[in-house]
Amino acid sequence: MNILLLGSGGREHALAWAISASPLLGTLYAAPGNAGIADLAEIVDLDVSDHPAVVSFCKDKDIGLVVVGPEAPLVAGLVDDLETAGIKAFGPSKAAAQLEGSKAFTKSICDIANIPTAKYGRFDTAEAARVYVKRTGAPIVVKADGLAAGKGVVVAQTEAEAIAAIDSCFDGQFGEAGALVVIEEFLEGEEASFFVLSDGKNILPLATAQDHKRAFDGDQGPNTGGMGAYSPAAVMTGERVEAVIEQIIKPTVSAMAERGTHFKGVLYAGLMITEDGPKLIEYNTRFGDPECQVLMMRLKDDIVTLMLGAVDGTLDRMSVRWHAEPALTVVMAAKGYPGSYGKGTEIQGLESAAPGPNVEVFHAGTRRDDGRVVANGGRVLNVTARGPSLKQARDLAYAAVSNITWPDGFYRTDIGWRDIERSS
Ligand code: ATP
Repeated sequence: MNILLLGSGGREHALAWAISASPLLGTLYAAPGNAGIADLAEIVDLDVSDHPAVVSFCKDKDIGLVVVGPEAPLVAGLVDDLETAGIKAFGPSKAAAQLEGSKAFTKSICDIANIPTAKYGRFDTAEAARVYVKRTGAPIVVKADGLAAGKGVVVAQTEAEAIAAIDSCFDGQFGEAGALVVIEEFLEGEEASFFVLSDGKNILPLATAQDHKRAFDGDQGPNTGGMGAYSPAAVMTGERVEAVIEQIIKPTVSAMAERGTHFKGVLYAGLMITEDGPKLIEYNTRFGDPECQVLMMRLKDDIVTLMLGAVDGTLDRMSVRWHAEPALTVVMAAKGYPGSYGKGTEIQGLESAAPGPNVEVFHAGTRRDDGRVVANGGRVLNVTARGPSLKQARDLAYAAVSNITWPDGFYRTDIGWRDIERSS
């Protein structure tokens, strides 16, 4: 089967790596890809926002499955257009991707299905939002409703901060995404991620992970897309996983089916483990980046078979096996990220950086330039390892990092600290 993979991050390189191992694969095509994906797939010049062009490419190349990595094409309805043309695509429809595309929509599903989540209000005027903040007080969380590349959320410690966040949303800082604002109760606890596959009716639980959002060691500095991750997350005990499946995931999948907007694809629950148990912070409707990298390192079964199970509605007949060994990934980013950073700086030592079978350097923002690999984005490499313990996985990953010569990059040195501290 020929497969088209869409996206250009470390997530997509990890997916390309897992897909390449599938016995079902014919030719793998990718757009836009990166320097790492180019070693595994034929890179094609396709504008992903041009749906007719994607459809016609798929027909031309006899594509049996399109794998959509990032959220934007899902929210834009690419899967709907592919399905209409008779092409299988892994990922939710536009209507089902609202679970990520609209925070107010997700909150309404939580209301309907009685899902544990933060108390909230939704507002379409700044005035009403300000009144709510003054009534409830701080700390409080202000969120632009739509997609804002992870920048639309402010955890406000004071009422003044919350009001400034409300004003910047309604002043158009996030365009249409900020025309509606969700204001939430501040939840205290430890955060964790949980991934499941859904075929619209059945779910297949995948695994847990934890990421590191802040730029610098000790969880300091600005928020980023994620500076590292590991799986499994110890905080997600068997009992908590069970509670999340029964109280959060299953009711969501049922509520979506009842509305006629069946959710197919990966459902990624961002959770807060509070004193009262796990609560839903947000849904994403695709794999996390960099969580996907550690999940793929732990996956024993064929990812393509699992994706087809989600597309074809046959997950009830499937199971999934994982390496019990933990996996950990360290993100190497361009100096200056998440602010402004340079591009085009050379990265050396990649060929010999990952010495063993359980170490992989997944590329994110990279491209080839005259045979050299150069940085082409904020997050650039994801050095990923699996080991007998989390500490050993971490040591393997950092040993590989030290083999890479890139003076213009930086990385956190404490990925995995929470669970490593807990276990020692
Ligand atoms: P991303 O896609 O980058 O995860 P997002 O813009 O979709 O972010 P959320 O995940 O909803 O936004 O929030 C981002 C972060 O803000 C969370 O990971 C969490 O640390 C914090 N946060 C969100 N909601 C709450 C809450 N109710 N209480 C405490 N912290 C929260």
